[in-house]
Amino acid sequence: MHICPECGYEYKDSVSKCPDCNVQLITKKQKEEKEKRFKDWEVAYTADTMYEAEMIKSNLLSAEVECVILNQKDRSFQVSGDLGIIKIMVPKDKVSEALVVIENSDSNDDDEIEEDYGR
Ligand SMILES: [Zn+2]
Repeated sequence: MHICPECGYEYKDSVSKCPDCNVQLITKKQKEEKEKRFKDWEVAYTADTMYEAEMIKSNLLSAEVECVILNQKDRSFQVSGDLGIIKIMVPKDKVSEALVVIENSDSNDDDEIEEDYGR
């Protein structure tokens, strides 16, 4: 059984790529390892749009903060919360660093978003 790391959809072994997400599928074992790895991760930010999430991700990566985007479609993570919300996860020890980066990237935004980051 192969699983898409993006949407969590399961495919037959003969399928190696998720047609929806256009990403390489992983095995169940890899998925379990991924889940274990993300146990120590926290939500640093919730975005309304994928565009916003991608922007913050690239800001974080350029600040050398490891991060990953999760959306509610991703069934490999049982993230509770509002539907349609996109979460940006960072390692626990990087959360404060990430928040600084995210705050700074907000100032480039035209919108005045005043919300806390779920902390
Ligand atoms: Zn997929």
